[in-house]
Amino acid sequence: MTDSQTDSLLNDAAVRLGDALHHAQVSDDTLERLRFPKSTLKVSIPVRMDDGALRTFRGYRVRYDDSRGPTKGGIRYHPNVNVDEVSTLAFWMTIKCAVLDLPYGGAKGGITVDPKQLSKFELERLSRGYIDAVADFIGPDVDIPAPDVYTNALIMGWMMDEYSIIQRRHVPEVITGKPLPMGGSQGRATATADGGFDVVEALRGKLLPTDRPTVAVQGFGNAGAAMALLLHEAGYRVVAVSDSQGAIYSGDGLDIPSVKKIKEESRQLPGVYYEGSVCDLIHHPVRHERISHEELLGLEVDLLVPAALENAITEANVERIHARVILELANGPITSAADRALVAREVTVIPDVLANAGGVTVSYFEWAQNRAGLYWTAREVRDKLRERMVGEAEQLWDFATAREIPLRTAAYAQALTRIGEAADAKGHKELYTSE
Ligand code: NAD
Repeated sequence: MTDSQTDSLLNDAAVRLGDALHHAQVSDDTLERLRFPKSTLKVSIPVRMDDGALRTFRGYRVRYDDSRGPTKGGIRYHPNVNVDEVSTLAFWMTIKCAVLDLPYGGAKGGITVDPKQLSKFELERLSRGYIDAVADFIGPDVDIPAPDVYTNALIMGWMMDEYSIIQRRHVPEVITGKPLPMGGSQGRATATADGGFDVVEALRGKLLPTDRPTVAVQGFGNAGAAMALLLHEAGYRVVAVSDSQGAIYSGDGLDIPSVKKIKEESRQLPGVYYEGSVCDLIHHPVRHERISHEELLGLEVDLLVPAALENAITEANVERIHARVILELANGPITSAADRALVAREVTVIPDVLANAGGVTVSYFEWAQNRAGLYWTAREVRDKLRERMVGEAEQLWDFATAREIPLRTAAYAQALTRIGEAADAKGHKELYTSE
């Protein structure tokens, strides 16, 4: 992320907090507590590279607020990771965990690195080195990491193993998003899309036409591809999907299982990073035409699902958005300025802190199963996820409609109120000053 994108993230977080404050029951004490992260760790990680040279990487772990429980949040590997970005994402995690009523505060971590430039051995040494550097800062009752952009189950497994070596005992509950044989949970791989789908289905009758609603999905990666498949299977007409290389469109609806199969066949590191492109379909018999990234975003569809990166919809392109409903499966795909324009045009935005919270919710289930030493079936995980996503979505919808505010404002207000209740339970100004 560039400096200006980080500024924009920080600014957006402040704007959204400001909007929500009018509707939250929150004390000045809580707001004071939330002004800065609880703690910020900056580490350097020396790694022996395959050619024998020693290279030092910069890493971060920020714990934003732990009023509601141990902090939780992913670890990102990206060349533009910096401490401001990690802090903002840690704040977002604080909100997201409270929106879903998980017993967690928020945190985030990251390493400034382009993981695609590293060999598997280098990636493993870097990941283990990160845990060596932050081991005193994390723990099952303190701070529990998880995957984020360009990290995955394989990396979480290395990290859990390293932490267990340091502690001289098996500690699967220190990290979530692990491979199944290392204590991972059923359903984690598709949890983000499953949760997003549950939210759409919960609000479908209120927001979308009953007969084959049309959908465009921006970003055909882990989250976006799984989401497109779920919607396709549920009878939605997915007319367009895109990845970093381009977009494809079919007015009749794309055959998503075929698109997914072709994309998976052309990637080179199965289960690690998608490397093929939906555009490879040009050589395959799936009916479609190629369109540009911007054309996909501007399609007149019932549901637009941004599932790629931050800042996809900004002041520069918001006037060209023609979707009725937008589900933010990615984190922060709409800037606060664009958000305001969409609200003014009565476009319903289902905010990221609800829409993509299925991932952290099943992470919570994974941690709970690790602590209990008792594992749930895929069916049990799926049912528990649906119950929580639908429950919170319906509650937010009722709150938002009663107050005539956007869902995002309702979600932030709900989260702030919950954080405030936990923080104030330990004492607040009125308690100490009243007779
Ligand atoms: P991913 O890397 O698997 O997929 C991202 C996809 O977006 C890739 O297909 C890439 O080609 C595509 N893309 C990049 N730039 C694009 C552009 N300009 N136009 C169209 N497509 C573009 O990542 P992911 O895990 O699916 O995560 C996607 C988003 O969802 C991120 O914002 C992430 O923070 C968020 N998210 C993911 C999870 C999860 O469990 N995977 C959980 C919560 C939030």
